[in-house]
Amino acid sequence: MGARMIDAVSGHSGIEAPAAGLDTRSDAGLLELITTEDPVREEALFAAARQVRARSYGQDVYFRGLIEFTNHCKNNCYYCGIRGGNGQVERYRLSLEEILGCCRLGDLLGYRTFVLQGGEDPWFTDDRIVEIVAGIRREYPGHAITLSIGERSRESYERFFRAGANRYLLRHETANDDHYRRLHPESMSLSERKQCLFNLREIGYQVGAGFMVGTPFQTPENLLEDLRFLQELKPQMVGIGPFIPQAATPLGAYPGGGLRQTLRMVALTRLLLPQALIPATTALGTISPTGREKGLMAGANVVMPNLSPKDVRKLYALYDNKICTGDEAAECRLCMEGRIRGFGFVPNMARGDYAGGAPVPGG
Ligand code: SAM
Repeated sequence: MGARMIDAVSGHSGIEAPAAGLDTRSDAGLLELITTEDPVREEALFAAARQVRARSYGQDVYFRGLIEFTNHCKNNCYYCGIRGGNGQVERYRLSLEEILGCCRLGDLLGYRTFVLQGGEDPWFTDDRIVEIVAGIRREYPGHAITLSIGERSRESYERFFRAGANRYLLRHETANDDHYRRLHPESMSLSERKQCLFNLREIGYQVGAGFMVGTPFQTPENLLEDLRFLQELKPQMVGIGPFIPQAATPLGAYPGGGLRQTLRMVALTRLLLPQALIPATTALGTISPTGREKGLMAGANVVMPNLSPKDVRKLYALYDNKICTGDEAAECRLCMEGRIRGFGFVPNMARGDYAGGAPVPGG
């Protein structure tokens, strides 16, 4: 019997008997839940995740405005559509004014968190990133600024933090060394990526780790290692999405990750990190028309509509058939709000900081 599971949900009224049968403590129990294809077991898992999420965040779903500000990338991750070696990509960079324009539109639409994501683009030197962060911070002193621009030195992360960045998303992608090697070129290493995450946490960022589900060569044991790494790092945010092949990449001919396995990983992450902010990712919405809503039903509590200018959205093509590349930001938000309400959730436009308290710099 799963003692941790019972602890995690004991504050709830109406805990269903099947939830008490979920063993989220032992490796064997977790592996069983990672791999089960029994719909009754899965539903028990999702129901338990919903209960744990409700205790930390009620029915609220937090909205973050995503600004994809560059698709240039010096890296060559074998799975990623904007990898430097993909000669078929039309590259773009947004100017400071364009980025601020996205923030202004986002603010008018009610967003209180801006997520700046991009490839690892050396043109955006530390000075330029500081200028962008400081510029947003000047106009929006109370908003959250999230960066997702890959691996940089500890000193760089410290500068961005001092300029006003609060959060940082850096998926670890896979916590297994051998698996990491098969998804990335020699120039990249899992230990460096993990070190970046620990640096970010020590500096005082709210940190987001995460991984793809169903990448080529991934085993259930690899997914277990992902969960164990999350328990060690204790990130405030966790991004989990299915791998989706992009035809022009070295892994473009492999099958993509499955919806239900991704949902099980979202639910297990919720059970192990009850207060984490977990997005229902665009990739989930891409592999199923109701994928994001199902993500919320499996314990996720964040959505990240796209605030990037309409003309560049289709160019930020990490994988094939990405959704929401044509919607106006306003339409996107209203459409998503309606759908979320339809599933019994409550859209929340507040900053939506981590419910577990502020991270302690140096801690
Ligand atoms: N460069 C930054 C970094 O490395 O964290 C942020 C941009 S990166 C493109 C954002 C995320 O996209 C990656 O962490 C990866 O998990 C995801 N991604 C890339 N290619 C993908 C694919 N083919 N399928 C699903 N997700 C993918």
